[in-house]
Amino acid sequence: MFFANCILKQNKFNAIIQKTCELKFSTNAISAARKKVCIVGAGPAGFYAAQYILKRLPDCDVDVVEKLPVPFGLVRFGVAPDHPEVKNVINTFTKTAENPRFRFLGNLSLGKDFSVKDLRDKYHAVLLTYGADEDRRMNIPNENSKNLISARKFVAWYNGLPGAENLNPDLSGDTVTLVGQGNVAVDIARILLSNVDALKSTDITDYALEALSASKVKNVYLVGRRGPLQAAFTIKELREILKLPNVSTVWRKSDFRRIPEIVDSLARPRKRLTELMLKSLSEQKSSSTSQKKFLPIFQRSPKEIHDNFIEFSVTEIKENTAIPTNVSEKFQTDLILRSIGYKSRSFDEEINFDEKKGYIVNKDGRVLKRNSQHESIDKGLYVAGWLGTGPTGVILTTMNGAFCVAKALCDDVEQKLIDTQTEKPGLDTSDKHVVSWDGWTKIDKFEVELGKSKGKLREKIVDIEKMLKIAGL
Ligand code: FAD
Ligand code: NAP
Repeated sequence: MFFANCILKQNKFNAIIQKTCELKFSTNAISAARKKVCIVGAGPAGFYAAQYILKRLPDCDVDVVEKLPVPFGLVRFGVAPDHPEVKNVINTFTKTAENPRFRFLGNLSLGKDFSVKDLRDKYHAVLLTYGADEDRRMNIPNENSKNLISARKFVAWYNGLPGAENLNPDLSGDTVTLVGQGNVAVDIARILLSNVDALKSTDITDYALEALSASKVKNVYLVGRRGPLQAAFTIKELREILKLPNVSTVWRKSDFRRIPEIVDSLARPRKRLTELMLKSLSEQKSSSTSQKKFLPIFQRSPKEIHDNFIEFSVTEIKENTAIPTNVSEKFQTDLILRSIGYKSRSFDEEINFDEKKGYIVNKDGRVLKRNSQHESIDKGLYVAGWLGTGPTGVILTTMNGAFCVAKALCDDVEQKLIDTQTEKPGLDTSDKHVVSWDGWTKIDKFEVELGKSKGKLREKIVDIEKMLKIAGL
């Protein structure tokens, strides 16, 4: 609700904080100790929060610690390689990083190299934005079967996340079933069904390109537990897959019973998405010459995994919820990709982490103390991004949320709700192999040049030791 209330367009935001900063500058200049803020995680939430804090508090230094030697989180390791325009946000992040009061400390992990307590001792305020790097599970029999892999790992594999390079997904069969109908599932369906020539010039990893070139996948099912009116994918992503050359989309007519009658009463974005599905259904040809098929299926909830098929319960929708019935349907499939969402984790027992919902409990980004009867704020500790909201939302949503949390942090500093009078030393990294922003720019240059030699936007380095070497460590 708070996030919804403070959605700002970036330009308007910049004008507002510029004004705010001008007004506040004189009061901030009086206080002696430099303010020190530490942000954990160099994804969009971390960068947008740093941008706000640096503009609003002229006497504040911001350190961003990141577990990988490279920045940008899911913008680098999540966003699909055939969506390069989405990655333009990196230009804004780079401008923030070039501020002399910003320090990038790459290759340092919360939980391994330091604890939250270490950071709280060494900074006036700590903002956690380390995202969600685990999987939600379906909790059904045989979920660990070797014909099932997580969508998160598959995305990490084609996008070059260190450690994911040896996934070796088996693409030798003709059918893949994606469980879940979010945009991650649609991204994967598109990558599996695209002609590899369309991917060759992107920053997709060489090994993924090679595996996709040899892929025998022809049919990709996209299975949702609810109906077309609750589909989690968005119109732009659906339109893109409907336009793929040599791919026909096959809907099941029975999934759309009674939908045409109510489509006009739907709210606008849902109405447009439903109209597009109905249009595509009406244009569906019984015999198609396309070699590949995209097959969305609705009202099927995963029930059990078997060697060469997956069983789903047929569901009924009651008050927008999928209720499994006793009826089931089996789908022959060679590979199953579980795409039902990412999951955050906690690195510290002291922190109020809601295991069920998968986020740090907070109010307007201020972390709430564990076991407190009234909402008691853990002063000086903040959370933003997917770690504070759960793993949903696009970069724009994450940006708006991060700006709001950064505003809360700056308000608390200015209203002296957190002590900023005592000097804080910041993190001592003298005994660590830390990648600085300068180190990252060396890796960046190396990757772009290597990519150029292959006719690609970039060739990502996936080996951490090699990254460190290129960064000069
Ligand atoms: P993240 O981007 O995950 O950043 C978290 C950072 O914290 C990472 O850099 C991580 O390495 C670091 N970290 C993790 N653990 C630690 C630790 N222990 N210590 C230190 N650092 C740590 N949105 C769009 O608008 N367009 C798209 O096309 C799009 N595509 C997407 C594709 C996929 C597959 C996914 C999953 C999401 C996509 N999104 C897209 C959504 C977008 O990526 C998110 O909204 C956004 O990245 C969330 O930002 P974040 O900063 O909360 O998390
Ligand atoms: P998501 O949008 O939340 O979709 C998750 C899907 O999994 C839904 O279809 C959900 O169904 C289903 N699901 C959840 N639990 C399930 C279970 N136990 N059994 C069966 N199905 C289950 O998540 P996501 O696809 O991981 O995407 C995360 C966020 O990143 C989204 O906000 C997305 O828009 C964004 N993103 C954007 C882009 C883009 O802009 N191109 C690309 C990728 C990701 P229910 O709806 O029934 O719960």
